[in-house]
Amino acid sequence: MIDQLTIDKIMSAAKIEEVVGEYVSLHRRGVNLKGLCPFHSEKTPSFVVSPSKGICHCFGCGKGGNPVNFIMEIEQVNYYEALKMLAKKYGIEVEERELTDEQKAQRSEREALFAANEFARDYFSDILTNNAEGRSVGLTYFRERGINDASIKTFQLGYSLSEKDAFTKEALKKGFSKEYLVKTGLTLDNEFGVVDRFRGRVIYPVQTISGKVVAFGGRILKKSDKLAKYVNSPESEIYHKSDQLYGIYQAKQDIVRNDRCYLVEGYMDVISMHQSGIKNVVASSGTSLTTGQIRLIHRFTNNVTVLYDGDAAGIHASIRGIDMLLAEGMNIKVVSLPDGEDPDSYSQTHNADETVAFLENNAVDFLKFKTQLLMADAGNDPIKRAQLIQDIVKSISVIPDTITRAVYVRECSRMMEIEEAMLFNEIDRIRLNQSTQEQKEAERQRLVEQLKERERKATATTTTTAPEPKKAANPYFREEADLIKFIIRYGALYLFTDEDGSWVSAVDFIKRDLEIDNITFKNTAFQKLFAAAYEHCQSPENCVPYESVFADETSFAKLEDKAAFYANAEVELEKLSRFLFNNSDYEVSQTATNIGIEKYHLSKSQKEQYGQNYHRLRDDLLTLTRALKYKVLLSAISEVKAEIEIADKEHDEQKRKALLEKYQQLNKAKGILYKEKVYIPKNK
Ligand SMILES: [Zn+2]
Repeated sequence: MIDQLTIDKIMSAAKIEEVVGEYVSLHRRGVNLKGLCPFHSEKTPSFVVSPSKGICHCFGCGKGGNPVNFIMEIEQVNYYEALKMLAKKYGIEVEERELTDEQKAQRSEREALFAANEFARDYFSDILTNNAEGRSVGLTYFRERGINDASIKTFQLGYSLSEKDAFTKEALKKGFSKEYLVKTGLTLDNEFGVVDRFRGRVIYPVQTISGKVVAFGGRILKKSDKLAKYVNSPESEIYHKSDQLYGIYQAKQDIVRNDRCYLVEGYMDVISMHQSGIKNVVASSGTSLTTGQIRLIHRFTNNVTVLYDGDAAGIHASIRGIDMLLAEGMNIKVVSLPDGEDPDSYSQTHNADETVAFLENNAVDFLKFKTQLLMADAGNDPIKRAQLIQDIVKSISVIPDTITRAVYVRECSRMMEIEEAMLFNEIDRIRLNQSTQEQKEAERQRLVEQLKERERKATATTTTTAPEPKKAANPYFREEADLIKFIIRYGALYLFTDEDGSWVSAVDFIKRDLEIDNITFKNTAFQKLFAAAYEHCQSPENCVPYESVFADETSFAKLEDKAAFYANAEVELEKLSRFLFNNSDYEVSQTATNIGIEKYHLSKSQKEQYGQNYHRLRDDLLTLTRALKYKVLLSAISEVKAEIEIADKEHDEQKRKALLEKYQQLNKAKGILYKEKVYIPKNK
């Protein structure tokens, strides 16, 4: 649907660090950038972004790839959707051919749901500003709440008419199918017929981290006993409540900039604080925090400040959720607002500087806060006090960092007037218990993930993940992977010359060498990558002349700028790896990333040996192809052995004789493998 030229344009414009940086807070580590993996839960960063290679990779869960792969995975969209998103980000125009009816029908359900939500968002926002009822009811409400036009635009606020099916009628007229309107929850289809879920409500769209609308919240304006004050979209294929935070899209950059996230409760709290100039604020939307939401925050910062309204009941309820933040290794502070105030009202009556000053001056460490709160509750009641100690110890025990735990023990021991040793003992006991439970939970999670993955693969209309290299099924996996790694790094390098004096690239050499023994890669992903690399290196301009990487000893010694020589060698060698990493075949790019990210390390002394390294590199390659051949032979030998045993049992003399002969041949081949059967073109 998108032509190759445009794809190439997008690929070369997309900078991996910029693309990933929108989702993950990255920190420079040498030539690479590092951050917390957005695909699995972790406390220490193992997600690596390599700007020079144009790829990212998680050493924990193995996910990553080039910018397109990354977007596909994180947004759960197909290849074309991912390309379109990148094109939009980099201002590249995408000329799409008109979709045929059949293609339209094939558009994935996810896309259809997003399209319905996008339409609804635009429709509701249009009603709010341009419709008489929208203005007199919706806009008036926002005005009364002190919300200005800029905020209405930023948060894409809207209004849904009170007429029972005004929205649905319009959507159907515009060609959206009822099925998807119902699945997003925008439309209810019940005994009363078709009804708009959000009729007569102001609308707060819920956006993902990248700004896509996954759900809506609607607040009723008329006083009514029968109707709930707030109505939200139901869970759907695209909306999992527990993974979303209201305001994260508008807040993420400011969270990184301030290295802090303010956590509030409602939509209006977020919008008012944002409007007053404090933009690093998100809401969990009423419910207590989930691990999914915590992970979302943790991608951008370690520091969370929770804002509480004055009333104590709410505080008690949400304390549990905060223990989870502690368990994720985050630093939590708590601010209680003055009696009768909430974040919305406070930021409406104070400017940003005043609010920030108040938040900073009144922020209390969470555990201290919790201890004080519970101590006040317990008073002098010994049973309540014992419970309190248990409770605090539990909170401390989930903190992953030993030193932080020790600091808290000291602090709490002082506040509660209990010996440190006693607290430590109790914590050790709980942690011991936890680790066995965690193991069980991790095992369960792994199973759930596996099942989900299997289900997803079975129902997937588009391939969003490359099949994992099948390690168990392929006895040569290690040897094949080593060869592939060599190809990614040196495949395009002219390492040998043919009899007629023409150059032979490493990948070409491997092909010829393996063909002698009829060996092909068993792993299909490797096969594909190998074919792509071979094809690419058929053009001499894609190959690397050996002079640009190697120099003989005398000329190397004479080189004035050795650093420039190394740098140029690196750039030359990366020609093939970049081609593979950014390959338009998803399986190739994914495999290249998985295998190639473990850098083929050149130590400093190796670099300095560039002059002599030429022969060593050839030897390395021969060792790798031999290793594979050897492994293949060994398994052939053991197969024949097994067959001989069967022939023995069956007393099949003829078969036995033939097999023995084969066995001897194979053994002989094994013996001469290192001498004769390797394809060695004439050496230059
Ligand atoms: Zn990961």
